Amino acid sequence: MFQKILIANRGEIALRVIRACREMGIASVAVHSTADADAMHVRMADEALCIGPAPATDSYLSVPAIISACEITGAEAIHPGYGFLSENANFVQIVEDHGLTFIGPSAAHIRLMGDKITAKETMKALDVPCVPGSDGGVPDLATARKLAAEIGYPVIVKATAGGGGRGMKLARSEAEIDAAFQTARSEAKAAFGNPEVYLEKYLGNPRHIEIQVFGDGKGGAVHLGERDCSLQRRHQKVLEEAPGPSIDAETRDRIGRVCAEAVGRIGYSGAGTIEFLYEDGEFYFIEMNTRLQVEHPVTEAIFGVDLVREQIRIAAGLPMSFGQDDLHLNGHAIEVRINAERLPAFAPCPGLVKTFHAPGGLGVRMDSALYGGYRIPPYYDSLIAKLIVHGRDRPEAIARLRRALGELIVDGVDTTVPLFGALLAEPDIQTGDYSIHWLERWLARELQQG
Ligand code: ADP
Repeated sequence: MFQKILIANRGEIALRVIRACREMGIASVAVHSTADADAMHVRMADEALCIGPAPATDSYLSVPAIISACEITGAEAIHPGYGFLSENANFVQIVEDHGLTFIGPSAAHIRLMGDKITAKETMKALDVPCVPGSDGGVPDLATARKLAAEIGYPVIVKATAGGGGRGMKLARSEAEIDAAFQTARSEAKAAFGNPEVYLEKYLGNPRHIEIQVFGDGKGGAVHLGERDCSLQRRHQKVLEEAPGPSIDAETRDRIGRVCAEAVGRIGYSGAGTIEFLYEDGEFYFIEMNTRLQVEHPVTEAIFGVDLVREQIRIAAGLPMSFGQDDLHLNGHAIEVRINAERLPAFAPCPGLVKTFHAPGGLGVRMDSALYGGYRIPPYYDSLIAKLIVHGRDRPEAIARLRRALGELIVDGVDTTVPLFGALLAEPDIQTGDYSIHWLERWLARELQQG
């Protein structure tokens, strides 16, 4: 096992990894920018090192600074958290070239899944159901027109290098395909330096269902059920729950097995998430994330396992501490992402947190790096806390979430907390009847009503 792990991240996820390290008796090293000198992850880690100025490109994304920090502190492994360098195959290669261990999958697997066309081709070959569409890239307008007619409108044009919802364009009919194709290509070129796009059938009203998988790197793999992350604003998840209100045990078992078998067959190592759109009882693969997800705690809550601990064990060459038969789903969990943002526009709202009080009690988990007197810097993501609740069933989890939100105090900055109170009062949310468009439509309605 490692003696010392460096965490190449900040905020709540850095704390999350430090917590796992401490329980495993592993020393932790925090790295930080000058803007984060007073951050909680710096205080909580066993050691901390400043690696650069505030802009992430000069600190949290600086590969030389992070490698040097390992050399200075003697850290043997790097946990990337999510975001930043977590899905950067070149970084993984450099880490390995320096004799260090990356806590995550191989560079080859990250690369394979980082390109959406290869990811889809791979998944298709592994019998994972995919959205009908062009097989591979679409080189020109004439081909786009021909394929779109074959697939049937509406179609969506997507960038192979895409991410964060960028480089995606909808064409509802033949009249829109030229503009959609050309805009998607130029957006993709500008945003990712790669103009290649592909076509997919546009699904009208799907849910976003993702399957948590875990591979041992030697062909063994398990699944830990699904998360429903359909409640999204601008393709950003806002609330996630597990199990999915629309998924029964038989369906979970079926899609879970397909996913576990697929990652096992490619020899995948560590945590991964296979994302699907789910409509009329059918799953359609959209992408695989080769890292720990923000919303992993809902899965931890219902299965009672520590996914970060497991990531560290696998990276250290140990076997997995559980097999499929050891995994039993228990109860229901919901996570809300709390951002320092001012409603209704969701405008980032950094600044001084005067008072902070985290909710507690049975079934409540608060993953946050906030403290009273902390000044939220303006340079990074506005996520300040994840509140996760676990109950014996969905109604209990909802009641607990409402109760916990009421206990939370964040004074000094605006947050998205009021959004969740309003959401939980909605009958559709209470019954779990929502698709990926529900939240945007609801927000538009709420805003109209003022
Ligand atoms: P990104 O990597 O940019 O997040 P994804 O492929 O994960 O892109 O898609 C992001 C979101 O776009 C999905 O969660 C869904 O809301 C929408 N989307 C993607 N593909 C389709 C499709 N074929 N039909 C309908 N909506 C889609």
